[in-house]
Parts: sequence; C-alpha cells; structure tokens
Amino acid sequence: MIRPLWAEINLKALRDNYQAIRLYVGEKTRIIAVVKQSAYGHGLIPVSRELRSQGVDFFGVASIEEAISLREDGFKGDIIVLTSILEEFVSYFLEYDLIPTVVDLGFAKKLNKEARSKNKRVPIHVKIDTGMGRLGPGYQQAHLFIKELMNFKNLNLEGIYTHFPVADTDTVFTNFQIEAFNQFICSLNEDNISFKYCHCANSMGIINYPNAHFNMVRPGLILYGIKPCLNCDLILDPVLTLKAKVVFVKKNKQGSSVGYGRTFLVSEEGNIATIAVGYADGYPWALSNRSKVIIKDKLFNVAGRVCMDHIMVDLKDDNDVKQGQEVILIGKSKNHQITVEDLAQESRTIPYEIVSRLSSKIPRIYKYFKVETKQEGQQVIR
Ligand SMILES: *Cc1c(COP(=O)(O)O)cnc(C)c1O
Repeated sequence: MIRPLWAEINLKALRDNYQAIRLYVGEKTRIIAVVKQSAYGHGLIPVSRELRSQGVDFFGVASIEEAISLREDGFKGDIIVLTSILEEFVSYFLEYDLIPTVVDLGFAKKLNKEARSKNKRVPIHVKIDTGMGRLGPGYQQAHLFIKELMNFKNLNLEGIYTHFPVADTDTVFTNFQIEAFNQFICSLNEDNISFKYCHCANSMGIINYPNAHFNMVRPGLILYGIKPCLNCDLILDPVLTLKAKVVFVKKNKQGSSVGYGRTFLVSEEGNIATIAVGYADGYPWALSNRSKVIIKDKLFNVAGRVCMDHIMVDLKDDNDVKQGQEVILIGKSKNHQITVEDLAQESRTIPYEIVSRLSSKIPRIYKYFKVETKQEGQQVIR
C-alpha cells in the first residue's frame, strides 16, 4: 500500500449487525443478505464468508457476475439475482443454480425451455410492482401474469416479492403497499396458488414495518451498520472505516487561496494539510468546503474543493500534525465520529451512494474487533 488510503472492514461488527437483525426478525423469518455491488463496497467475498459463518444461506446480488463469484468461492446455498436479466443469458441460471427475478413472460418462456432441455426445474421469484414503478407488472395485472407463469412446468414459483420506494418517509403509502401485497397473496391463495416465500422488506421495511416481514426479509444497508433513518431502533455498529495519511503540510499566508476555483481563502496564517483522498476514490466532490476529518482525535474542516486525488484541510494554528499522520475520513476516534450518514448528508446524497462508490482500488483490510462502546451484555434492541 504505497498510496496511503485504505478501508478497514470490521467483520465482528458485521457479525453483530447480522445477529441483531436475526434477533429482531425472529428465527422463523428467512434472511436474504443483500451483498450487491461488492457488499455495498465492503468486499463481496470476505463479507459473504463472514455471514456464511453466521448461518446465512441466502444471498441477494445485482448481477450474474457477483453470483458466479459466490459460487466460485464454494457457496452452495441460495442466490437470488435482484434484477431483470436479459433473456439471452438464461443459461447462467441453470449452469450456476441461481434464482432469477422474473418480471416478464419472454424471459420465463426462454428459461422454461432451457430448463426443460436440461430436465431441470428452476426456482424463481416473481416481482410485482406495488408502487416502486420499476420492475414487474403492476399488482392489478399480476394475477393473470402469475397464472400464465403457472403454465411453465419447468419453473418452480417459489417466491413472490415487491419493493418499497418510501419506507423511510411515507408510512401511509408503505402501509398501502403492504396491504396491496397482502391482498394479492390472499387472492392467489383463493385460486390455490401459494408461494413458499413472500417478501418485501429492505432495511427500512425491516425496522419500521414488522407487518412487512412476512416470512422473508432482504436487509442490505443495516448489515453494514449504516442507518437508513435517524430514529433507528436497532443498535448497529459501522463496519467500514476509511483512513488516509497526510502527505504534505504547509503554512499558508492570510488571504492566500486553497485549491481549484480558489473557493477557500485562508483567514489567518496557518497550516494546511494535504491528504491522499479525492473524488476519484469515491470521496464526493460535493464535500468541497463541507466535510470534516479527524486527525489525532481532533476535527478539521476540508478547505477548498475536493480534487481528483487530494483534499486539503485547514489545520489553523495546529502545529502537531505532520506528514505521514493518520487521518480518519469515515470512522471514530476517542471523542469524535464521522459516519457514512454524515458524509451523505453533507454531500446531499444517500449513504448507499457513498459506500457503493468507494473505489475498488482502495485496499480493504479485514479486521475483527469488538466495538469498545458496546458493553458486554448490552441489549441489542432498545
Ligand atoms: C438493494 C435491495 C435491497 C436492500 O435494500 P437496503 O435498503 O439496503 O436494505 C432489498 N431488496 C431489493 C430488491 C434491493 O434491490
């Protein structure tokens, strides 16, 4: 690691978060651990291995490539691809024993034909739209869709699911969706059609809508210890820490400017430190003049615009910070903490974008330590 920028991934925190979710949803609810986009930037293989050691036997991914990586790592359990794959690629589902999300008949027909030719029956999860406006037929038309799918004898309609667009902000709409989904399942039952798994809850759905758990849930964000909302009842430990080092310190005169666009003017003569992280690493440009970093357990402001490979911070009259000094960009020190949620808020985006866009070039260092602030025996759910 010559470029001094790295992420530390605390697998103990991941384990604790998973166990907290497990306790919260109860033993009877099956959990799909969502590990798409390289486990939200935390690293697909180390994260999935740790979760497997905790009993996770069902993963959700966003691409065939990720599913194949899990298989190549020896995972034999269930893998659902949470997106619609073009029908020319159906053979992968059979070859790697993957569960597709089925949202159109053309795909189902092709998959069925391929399965028949291999003398197999493929489990599928059907996705219906109750308000996301993205994948799948609207719930009003979905009954007919399901009936047509029933004609494909080599498909096993194992799961039915839907997704929430506003579980964090609109309880009326979300409850309406849960009700629509529920009624839809009931109407199918009346026609003697039932699914082994019914699911709709992502992180926010899990936390705020116990009535949305059904018998399966799909947590992503909360596994990584990131809160989807401010008043989150689960005690979660952030899994990721992002660190860099100071590569240069200089004294700047009053009135001199720092960085592109000259958006930061030094108000009093003081030190400016340059740190090896930039927007190409996934540290958003929108954090220019907004975010803070922790150095030696003190907070300092980012001065000027975030560059492609650097940020500068205003040390003011602090003379203790030297070249090579460690900097916490995301994480906590004794008295301070900067969370993914903080950076998301300061750059006017969502936590999901912050972690999933951290460059894959940044080395991930896997660690296993108990989070100090959490006392032994502390209740997991408040
Ligand atoms: C990403 C995703 C999830 C996980 O969402 P979180 O908010 O991260 O918990 C669940 N379901 C589907 C369909 C997804 O695409």
